[in-house]
Amino acid sequence: MIGIYGASGCGRGIMPLARAEFPAADLVFIDDGLGAAVVNGHPVLPWEAFLARNAPTRSVAIAIADSTIRERLAQRAMMAGVPLQAIRAATVVEMDDVQIAEGACLSPFVTLTSNIRIGKCFHANLYSYVEHDCLIGDFVTLAPGAKVNGAVTLGDHVYIGSGAVIRQGLTIGEGAVVGMGAVVTRDVPAGVTVVGNPARVMERSS
Ligand code: UDP
Repeated sequence: MIGIYGASGCGRGIMPLARAEFPAADLVFIDDGLGAAVVNGHPVLPWEAFLARNAPTRSVAIAIADSTIRERLAQRAMMAGVPLQAIRAATVVEMDDVQIAEGACLSPFVTLTSNIRIGKCFHANLYSYVEHDCLIGDFVTLAPGAKVNGAVTLGDHVYIGSGAVIRQGLTIGEGAVVGMGAVVTRDVPAGVTVVGNPARVMERSS
């Protein structure tokens, strides 16, 4: 049995990929807050019910875009002895020497070129790419169409918004957020949000 954790937008995008990749598996959604019994033909179970369901094996793919929640639920799975499940679309292109830690969700038309290192529970959404020699931390999220050029370092929990472009060789610090469509031409410090072209740190309005 494979549980897709999250039956909202992200999970409903990952479930069909799991169905295509693992046609013989018992595929269920895990969701603690949705309150629906079935979504798109699959049962929706709270975590405890997923653990209690009769199955010879179980694994979990965490299909929730918020990386803090992903980390918490990955921890929950680890404590329960449930391994993280990677899910990838058939159209993913992966070139040479790409090493990806457990639990990645790779959506249709993602491209990972060569000599890349990627941490735990990576999410690469539709049409995003990672170019050569990138170093990507744990719980990193690429929104649809995010463009990560060569030799870029992304710290843990970085979020790259839809269509944003990261120039070759830059470092995006841990927990930083790159806004939708941003063009990032300089390193980004940890924890800040950058937006625009060229991308600048967004000041907080108090
Ligand atoms: N969720 C959950 N357990 C948690 C936190 C979140 O089951 O501890 C579920 C939540 O009920 C919701 C989904 O995860 O159905 C997250 O959906 P959301 O639309 O917020 O985000 P997305 O699908 O875009 O990642």
